[in-house]
Amino acid sequence: MSGGGRDTTGLARDTLYVAAGRDTDLPGRSVNPPIVRASTFLFNSLQELESAAKAPFDGAFYGRLGTPTTFAFERAMAQAEGGYRSIATGSGLSAIVAVLVGFLKTGDHALIVDSVYEPVRRFCHRVLAGMGVEVTFYDPGLGAAELEPLIRTTTRLIYMESPGSGTFEVQDVPAIVALAKRRQLVTAMDNTWATPLYYRPIEHGVDISIHAATKYIVGHSDAVLGVVTTNEATWGPVRQASQDLGASAGSEECNLGLRGLHTLAVRMRQHEATALTLARWLAEQPAVSRVFHPALESSPGHAHWKRDFDGSSGLFSIELGGMSATAFDAFTSALKLFSIGFSWGGFESLILPAHPEKTRTAPAWQGTGPLLRLHAGLEDPADLLADLQAGFVAAARTKDTGSP
Ligand SMILES: *Cc1c(COP(=O)(O)O)cnc(C)c1O
Repeated sequence: MSGGGRDTTGLARDTLYVAAGRDTDLPGRSVNPPIVRASTFLFNSLQELESAAKAPFDGAFYGRLGTPTTFAFERAMAQAEGGYRSIATGSGLSAIVAVLVGFLKTGDHALIVDSVYEPVRRFCHRVLAGMGVEVTFYDPGLGAAELEPLIRTTTRLIYMESPGSGTFEVQDVPAIVALAKRRQLVTAMDNTWATPLYYRPIEHGVDISIHAATKYIVGHSDAVLGVVTTNEATWGPVRQASQDLGASAGSEECNLGLRGLHTLAVRMRQHEATALTLARWLAEQPAVSRVFHPALESSPGHAHWKRDFDGSSGLFSIELGGMSATAFDAFTSALKLFSIGFSWGGFESLILPAHPEKTRTAPAWQGTGPLLRLHAGLEDPADLLADLQAGFVAAARTKDTGSP
Protein backbone atom coordinates (compact mmCIF):
# COMPACT_ATOMS: atom_id res chain seq x y z
CA MET A 1 0.00 0.00 0.00
CA SER A 2 1.44 3.41 -0.90
CA GLY A 3 -0.21 4.73 2.23
CA GLY A 4 -1.49 8.00 3.47
CA GLY A 5 -2.87 9.67 0.35
CA ARG A 6 -3.33 13.42 0.28
CA ASP A 7 -4.53 15.86 2.89
CA THR A 8 -7.27 18.46 2.46
CA THR A 9 -4.82 21.00 0.95
CA GLY A 10 -4.03 18.51 -1.83
CA LEU A 11 -0.51 17.83 -0.60
CA ALA A 12 0.76 14.27 -0.19
CA ARG A 13 1.34 13.37 3.44
CA ASP A 14 5.08 12.92 2.88
CA THR A 15 5.20 16.55 1.71
CA LEU A 16 3.08 17.74 4.60
CA TYR A 17 5.26 16.07 7.24
CA VAL A 18 8.49 17.62 5.94
CA ALA A 19 7.64 21.25 6.73
CA ALA A 20 5.08 20.58 9.49
CA GLY A 21 5.57 22.79 12.53
CA ARG A 22 7.95 25.23 10.86
CA ASP A 23 7.14 28.86 11.58
CA THR A 24 7.03 30.36 8.11
CA ASP A 25 7.04 34.01 9.26
CA LEU A 26 10.46 34.16 10.83
CA PRO A 27 13.29 35.44 8.65
CA GLY A 28 16.58 33.55 9.01
CA ARG A 29 14.74 30.60 10.51
CA SER A 30 16.50 27.25 10.81
CA VAL A 31 14.99 24.13 9.25
CA ASN A 32 14.41 22.78 12.75
CA PRO A 33 12.73 25.12 15.24
CA PRO A 34 15.16 25.84 18.10
CA ILE A 35 14.83 23.87 21.32
CA VAL A 36 13.74 26.48 23.82
CA ARG A 37 14.40 25.27 27.35
CA ALA A 38 12.48 27.60 29.59
CA SER A 39 10.42 27.90 32.70
CA THR A 40 10.32 31.68 32.57
CA PHE A 41 9.52 34.06 29.74
CA LEU A 42 10.04 37.78 30.28
CA PHE A 43 7.54 40.60 29.72
CA ASN A 44 8.41 44.25 29.17
CA SER A 45 5.47 45.64 31.11
CA LEU A 46 2.55 44.57 33.26
CA GLN A 47 0.22 45.34 30.35
CA GLU A 48 2.18 42.89 28.21
CA LEU A 49 1.93 40.26 30.96
CA GLU A 50 -1.82 40.82 31.32
CA SER A 51 -2.53 40.59 27.61
CA ALA A 52 -0.41 37.41 27.36
CA ALA A 53 -2.42 35.94 30.26
CA LYS A 54 -5.58 36.24 28.14
CA ALA A 55 -4.24 33.66 25.65
CA PRO A 56 -1.60 31.72 27.59
CA PHE A 57 -1.68 28.76 25.20
CA ASP A 58 -0.99 30.81 22.08
CA GLY A 59 2.36 32.31 22.96
CA ALA A 60 5.19 31.83 25.41
CA PHE A 61 3.75 32.57 28.85
CA TYR A 62 5.05 30.07 31.38
CA GLY A 63 7.11 26.95 30.62
CA ARG A 64 4.53 24.49 31.90
CA LEU A 65 1.95 25.87 29.45
CA GLY A 66 4.31 25.40 26.51
CA THR A 67 7.39 26.79 24.83
CA PRO A 68 7.93 27.75 21.17
CA THR A 69 9.25 24.17 20.67
CA THR A 70 6.14 22.64 22.25
CA PHE A 71 3.91 24.83 20.12
CA ALA A 72 5.78 23.84 16.93
CA PHE A 73 5.19 20.14 17.69
CA GLU A 74 1.54 20.82 18.55
CA ARG A 75 0.98 22.74 15.31
CA ALA A 76 2.59 19.96 13.30
CA MET A 77 0.50 17.24 14.95
CA ALA A 78 -2.77 19.18 14.53
CA GLN A 79 -1.98 19.46 10.83
CA ALA A 80 -0.96 15.79 10.51
CA GLU A 81 -4.15 14.64 12.27
CA GLY A 82 -6.45 17.05 10.46
CA GLY A 83 -7.62 18.39 13.82
CA TYR A 84 -8.30 21.79 15.34
CA ARG A 85 -5.42 21.86 17.84
CA SER A 86 -3.05 19.50 19.61
CA ILE A 87 -1.81 19.38 23.18
CA ALA A 88 1.55 17.80 23.99
CA THR A 89 1.81 15.93 27.30
CA GLY A 90 4.60 14.19 29.16
CA SER A 91 3.56 10.67 28.11
CA GLY A 92 0.98 8.79 26.12
CA LEU A 93 -0.71 7.78 29.36
CA SER A 94 -0.96 11.38 30.58
CA ALA A 95 -2.52 12.33 27.22
CA ILE A 96 -5.21 9.68 27.78
CA VAL A 97 -5.70 10.73 31.41
CA ALA A 98 -6.16 14.37 30.36
CA VAL A 99 -8.99 13.30 28.05
CA LEU A 100 -10.70 11.14 30.69
CA VAL A 101 -10.37 13.77 33.42
CA GLY A 102 -11.45 16.51 31.01
CA PHE A 103 -14.83 14.92 30.39
CA LEU A 104 -15.67 12.71 33.37
CA LYS A 105 -16.97 14.10 36.65
CA THR A 106 -18.41 12.37 39.75
CA GLY A 107 -21.54 10.41 38.82
CA ASP A 108 -20.57 10.12 35.15
CA HIS A 109 -20.17 6.87 33.23
CA ALA A 110 -17.81 5.99 30.39
CA LEU A 111 -17.68 3.16 27.86
CA ILE A 112 -14.11 1.97 27.40
CA VAL A 113 -13.02 -0.69 24.94
CA ASP A 114 -11.94 -3.94 26.61
CA SER A 115 -8.81 -4.15 24.44
CA VAL A 116 -7.57 -0.84 25.86
CA TYR A 117 -3.89 -0.24 26.69
CA GLU A 118 -3.64 -1.91 30.09
CA PRO A 119 -2.52 1.08 32.25
CA VAL A 120 -5.72 2.89 31.19
CA ARG A 121 -7.77 0.10 32.76
CA ARG A 122 -5.71 0.50 35.94
CA PHE A 123 -6.37 4.27 35.90
CA CYS A 124 -10.09 3.55 35.68
CA HIS A 125 -9.99 1.13 38.60
CA ARG A 126 -7.68 3.11 40.85
CA VAL A 127 -8.44 6.75 40.11
CA LEU A 128 -11.74 7.13 38.25
CA ALA A 129 -13.52 4.70 40.59
CA GLY A 130 -12.29 6.77 43.55
CA MET A 131 -13.67 9.91 41.89
CA GLY A 132 -17.09 8.23 41.60
CA VAL A 133 -16.87 7.69 37.84
CA GLU A 134 -18.19 4.35 36.59
CA VAL A 135 -16.72 2.53 33.62
CA THR A 136 -18.06 -0.31 31.46
CA PHE A 137 -15.49 -2.19 29.40
CA TYR A 138 -17.08 -3.20 26.08
CA ASP A 139 -16.15 -5.88 23.55
CA PRO A 140 -14.10 -4.33 20.70
CA GLY A 141 -16.21 -6.36 18.24
CA LEU A 142 -19.47 -4.62 19.18
CA GLY A 143 -21.39 -2.68 16.55
CA ALA A 144 -23.68 0.25 17.33
CA ALA A 145 -26.74 -1.95 17.94
CA GLU A 146 -24.99 -3.96 20.67
CA LEU A 147 -23.24 -0.93 22.14
CA GLU A 148 -26.31 1.26 22.47
CA PRO A 149 -27.91 -0.76 25.32
CA LEU A 150 -24.74 -0.14 27.37
CA ILE A 151 -25.33 3.63 27.26
CA ARG A 152 -26.80 5.03 30.49
CA THR A 153 -28.31 8.44 31.20
CA THR A 154 -25.00 9.29 32.91
CA THR A 155 -22.76 8.15 30.02
CA ARG A 156 -20.53 10.95 28.72
CA LEU A 157 -17.75 9.34 26.73
CA ILE A 158 -17.03 6.42 24.39
CA TYR A 159 -13.34 5.55 24.35
CA MET A 160 -11.88 3.50 21.50
CA GLU A 161 -8.50 2.02 20.78
CA SER A 162 -8.30 0.51 17.34
CA PRO A 163 -6.63 -1.82 16.76
CA GLY A 164 -6.60 -2.94 20.40
CA SER A 165 -3.44 -3.39 22.48
CA GLY A 166 -1.91 -6.86 22.19
CA THR A 167 -4.82 -8.41 20.33
CA PHE A 168 -5.35 -5.94 17.46
CA GLU A 169 -9.14 -6.04 17.01
CA VAL A 170 -10.25 -3.25 14.65
CA GLN A 171 -13.40 -1.44 15.76
CA ASP A 172 -16.34 -0.24 13.67
CA VAL A 173 -15.47 3.42 14.24
CA PRO A 174 -18.00 5.00 11.80
CA ALA A 175 -20.89 3.10 13.44
CA ILE A 176 -19.73 4.04 16.95
CA VAL A 177 -19.27 7.68 15.94
CA ALA A 178 -22.78 7.81 14.43
CA LEU A 179 -24.22 6.34 17.64
CA ALA A 180 -22.27 8.77 19.83
CA LYS A 181 -23.40 11.78 17.79
CA ARG A 182 -27.02 10.67 18.03
CA ARG A 183 -26.71 10.22 21.80
CA GLN A 184 -24.56 13.36 22.23
CA LEU A 185 -21.55 11.55 23.65
CA VAL A 186 -17.92 12.55 23.28
CA THR A 187 -15.72 10.08 21.38
CA ALA A 188 -11.98 9.61 21.85
CA MET A 189 -9.62 7.15 20.19
CA ASP A 190 -6.08 5.98 20.83
CA ASN A 191 -4.52 6.18 17.33
CA THR A 192 -0.98 5.17 18.29
CA TRP A 193 -0.84 1.99 16.18
CA ALA A 194 -1.82 3.50 12.84
CA THR A 195 -0.08 6.88 13.17
CA PRO A 196 -1.64 9.84 11.32
CA LEU A 197 -0.20 8.40 8.10
CA TYR A 198 -2.59 5.45 8.09
CA TYR A 199 -5.60 6.74 10.05
CA ARG A 200 -6.92 10.12 11.09
CA PRO A 201 -9.77 9.66 13.60
CA ILE A 202 -10.97 13.27 13.45
CA GLU A 203 -11.51 12.99 9.68
CA HIS A 204 -13.70 9.96 10.52
CA GLY A 205 -15.82 12.00 12.95
CA VAL A 206 -14.10 11.07 16.23
CA ASP A 207 -13.82 14.13 18.51
CA ILE A 208 -10.39 13.38 19.99
CA SER A 209 -7.33 11.47 18.72
CA ILE A 210 -4.59 10.41 21.11
CA HIS A 211 -1.02 9.27 20.46
CA ALA A 212 1.70 7.77 22.55
CA ALA A 213 4.23 9.77 20.49
CA THR A 214 6.75 7.66 22.39
CA LYS A 215 6.14 5.03 19.71
CA TYR A 216 6.25 5.81 15.96
CA ILE A 217 6.17 9.61 16.09
CA VAL A 218 9.38 9.92 18.12
CA GLY A 219 10.33 6.67 16.39
CA HIS A 220 13.77 6.08 17.91
CA SER A 221 13.05 4.68 21.41
CA ASP A 222 14.69 7.69 23.04
CA ALA A 223 11.82 9.74 24.49
CA VAL A 224 8.48 9.45 26.25
CA LEU A 225 5.85 11.85 24.88
CA GLY A 226 2.07 12.09 24.42
CA VAL A 227 -0.17 14.22 22.26
CA VAL A 228 -3.91 14.79 22.08
CA THR A 229 -5.52 16.30 18.99
CA THR A 230 -9.08 17.56 19.23
CA ASN A 231 -11.83 19.12 17.18
CA GLU A 232 -12.88 22.67 18.04
CA ALA A 233 -15.59 21.69 20.55
CA THR A 234 -13.39 19.46 22.70
CA TRP A 235 -10.16 21.49 22.79
CA GLY A 236 -11.08 23.61 25.82
CA PRO A 237 -11.85 20.82 28.31
CA VAL A 238 -8.84 18.71 27.28
CA ARG A 239 -6.47 21.69 27.38
CA GLN A 240 -7.79 22.71 30.79
CA ALA A 241 -7.50 19.18 32.19
CA SER A 242 -3.95 18.73 30.92
CA GLN A 243 -2.99 21.98 32.65
CA ASP A 244 -4.88 21.12 35.85
CA LEU A 245 -2.96 17.83 35.92
CA GLY A 246 0.35 19.57 35.22
CA ALA A 247 0.77 17.09 32.38
CA SER A 248 3.07 19.20 30.22
CA ALA A 249 5.72 17.89 27.82
CA GLY A 250 9.39 18.87 27.81
CA SER A 251 10.84 20.89 24.94
CA GLU A 252 13.55 18.30 24.23
CA GLU A 253 10.89 15.61 23.85
CA CYS A 254 8.73 17.80 21.62
CA ASN A 255 11.76 18.45 19.44
CA LEU A 256 12.28 14.69 19.11
CA GLY A 257 8.59 14.23 18.30
CA LEU A 258 8.76 16.88 15.58
CA ARG A 259 11.97 15.41 14.21
CA GLY A 260 10.37 11.96 14.08
CA LEU A 261 7.28 13.27 12.31
CA HIS A 262 9.40 14.57 9.41
CA THR A 263 10.55 11.00 8.58
CA LEU A 264 7.38 9.18 9.68
CA ALA A 265 6.09 8.31 6.21
CA VAL A 266 9.26 6.66 4.94
CA ARG A 267 9.77 4.73 8.19
CA MET A 268 6.17 3.52 8.30
CA ARG A 269 6.28 2.04 4.82
CA GLN A 270 9.27 -0.08 5.81
CA HIS A 271 7.70 -1.17 9.13
CA GLU A 272 4.51 -2.02 7.23
CA ALA A 273 6.20 -4.07 4.49
CA THR A 274 8.39 -6.01 6.92
CA ALA A 275 5.54 -6.74 9.35
CA LEU A 276 3.39 -8.05 6.49
CA THR A 277 6.21 -10.32 5.30
CA LEU A 278 6.72 -11.67 8.81
CA ALA A 279 3.01 -12.03 9.62
CA ARG A 280 2.25 -13.94 6.41
CA TRP A 281 5.21 -16.26 6.95
CA LEU A 282 4.29 -16.80 10.60
CA ALA A 283 0.72 -17.70 9.61
CA GLU A 284 2.18 -20.69 7.70
CA GLN A 285 4.24 -22.02 10.61
CA PRO A 286 2.84 -25.13 12.34
CA ALA A 287 3.67 -23.76 15.80
CA VAL A 288 1.56 -20.63 15.18
CA SER A 289 -2.16 -21.08 15.83
CA ARG A 290 -3.32 -17.50 15.17
CA VAL A 291 -1.85 -14.26 13.83
CA PHE A 292 -3.43 -11.00 14.99
CA HIS A 293 -2.55 -8.47 12.29
CA PRO A 294 -5.32 -6.18 11.01
CA ALA A 295 -4.22 -6.58 7.37
CA LEU A 296 -4.64 -10.37 7.53
CA GLU A 297 -8.10 -11.58 6.57
CA SER A 298 -8.35 -13.91 9.55
CA SER A 299 -7.71 -11.09 12.05
CA PRO A 300 -10.74 -9.75 14.00
CA GLY A 301 -12.15 -6.58 12.43
CA HIS A 302 -10.09 -6.99 9.23
CA ALA A 303 -13.03 -5.74 7.12
CA HIS A 304 -13.14 -2.54 9.19
CA TRP A 305 -9.41 -2.06 8.73
CA LYS A 306 -9.71 -2.58 4.98
CA ARG A 307 -12.59 -0.10 4.73
CA ASP A 308 -11.15 2.65 6.95
CA PHE A 309 -7.34 2.57 7.16
CA ASP A 310 -4.72 3.65 4.61
CA GLY A 311 -2.15 1.06 5.73
CA SER A 312 -0.86 -1.06 8.59
CA SER A 313 2.07 -0.58 10.94
CA GLY A 314 4.77 -2.87 12.30
CA LEU A 315 3.11 -4.20 15.46
CA PHE A 316 1.15 -7.47 15.61
CA SER A 317 0.93 -10.64 17.67
CA ILE A 318 0.99 -14.40 17.31
CA GLU A 319 -0.57 -17.13 19.37
CA LEU A 320 1.57 -20.23 19.84
CA GLY A 321 -1.24 -22.72 20.48
CA GLY A 322 -0.23 -25.61 22.72
CA MET A 323 3.37 -24.45 23.09
CA SER A 324 4.81 -25.39 26.49
CA ALA A 325 6.38 -22.76 28.75
CA THR A 326 9.75 -24.46 28.20
CA ALA A 327 9.45 -24.31 24.42
CA PHE A 328 8.23 -20.69 24.56
CA ASP A 329 11.24 -19.80 26.67
CA ALA A 330 13.56 -21.57 24.21
CA PHE A 331 11.89 -19.78 21.27
CA THR A 332 12.19 -16.29 22.74
CA SER A 333 15.69 -16.89 24.13
CA ALA A 334 16.98 -18.06 20.73
CA LEU A 335 16.00 -14.79 19.02
CA LYS A 336 18.99 -12.54 18.40
CA LEU A 337 17.43 -9.68 16.42
CA PHE A 338 14.17 -9.43 18.36
CA SER A 339 15.02 -8.04 21.78
CA ILE A 340 12.74 -8.36 24.78
CA GLY A 341 11.50 -5.00 26.03
CA PHE A 342 8.57 -2.68 26.60
CA SER A 343 7.36 -0.11 24.11
CA TRP A 344 7.63 -0.27 20.30
CA GLY A 345 7.68 2.06 17.29
CA GLY A 346 11.44 2.53 17.27
CA PHE A 347 13.83 1.32 14.56
CA GLU A 348 14.50 -1.99 16.34
CA SER A 349 12.59 -5.25 16.42
CA LEU A 350 11.10 -6.24 19.76
CA ILE A 351 9.05 -8.99 21.33
CA LEU A 352 6.92 -8.98 24.47
CA PRO A 353 4.51 -11.59 25.83
CA ALA A 354 0.92 -10.32 26.05
CA HIS A 355 -1.51 -11.52 28.72
CA PRO A 356 -5.09 -10.69 27.75
CA GLU A 357 -6.27 -13.63 29.88
CA LYS A 358 -5.28 -11.63 32.98
CA THR A 359 -7.31 -8.54 32.14
CA ARG A 360 -10.00 -9.05 29.51
CA THR A 361 -13.57 -9.16 30.77
CA ALA A 362 -15.80 -8.51 27.73
CA PRO A 363 -15.55 -11.38 27.10
CA ALA A 364 -12.83 -13.30 28.97
CA TRP A 365 -9.91 -14.11 26.63
CA GLN A 366 -9.95 -17.62 25.14
CA GLY A 367 -6.34 -18.48 24.33
CA THR A 368 -4.77 -21.80 23.41
CA GLY A 369 -1.14 -20.91 24.17
CA PRO A 370 1.33 -18.10 24.74
CA LEU A 371 0.55 -14.81 22.97
CA LEU A 372 3.61 -12.95 21.72
CA ARG A 373 3.59 -9.35 20.48
CA LEU A 374 6.16 -8.58 17.78
CA HIS A 375 7.41 -5.23 16.55
CA ALA A 376 8.97 -5.36 13.07
CA GLY A 377 11.88 -2.93 13.10
CA LEU A 378 13.94 -1.57 10.23
CA GLU A 379 16.33 -4.54 10.00
CA ASP A 380 16.40 -6.53 6.76
CA PRO A 381 13.24 -8.70 6.60
CA ALA A 382 15.17 -11.81 5.49
CA ASP A 383 17.41 -11.54 8.57
CA LEU A 384 14.34 -11.24 10.79
CA LEU A 385 12.73 -14.29 9.18
CA ALA A 386 15.90 -16.32 9.71
CA ASP A 387 15.93 -15.22 13.35
CA LEU A 388 12.35 -16.41 13.89
CA GLN A 389 13.13 -19.65 12.05
CA ALA A 390 16.01 -20.29 14.48
CA GLY A 391 13.59 -19.63 17.34
CA PHE A 392 11.18 -22.30 16.09
CA VAL A 393 14.05 -24.77 15.70
CA ALA A 394 15.08 -24.11 19.32
CA ALA A 395 11.47 -24.54 20.50
CA ALA A 396 11.10 -27.86 18.62
CA ARG A 397 14.34 -29.15 20.15
CA THR A 398 12.83 -28.92 23.66
CA LYS A 399 10.39 -31.68 22.59
CA ASP A 400 13.22 -33.95 21.38
CA THR A 401 14.96 -33.71 24.75
CA GLY A 402 11.75 -34.66 26.50
CA SER A 403 11.42 -31.44 28.47
CA PRO A 404 7.87 -30.77 29.67
C1 LIG B 1 2.61 2.83 24.90
C2 LIG B 1 1.18 3.13 24.70
C3 LIG B 1 0.53 4.12 25.43
C4 LIG B 1 1.22 4.86 26.55
O1 LIG B 1 2.28 5.65 26.11
P1 LIG B 1 3.43 6.11 27.14
O2 LIG B 1 4.14 7.19 26.39
O3 LIG B 1 4.24 4.90 27.41
O4 LIG B 1 2.75 6.62 28.37
C5 LIG B 1 -0.78 4.39 25.14
N1 LIG B 1 -1.45 3.71 24.20
C6 LIG B 1 -0.86 2.74 23.47
C7 LIG B 1 -1.66 2.03 22.43
C8 LIG B 1 0.46 2.41 23.69
O5 LIG B 1 1.02 1.43 23.00
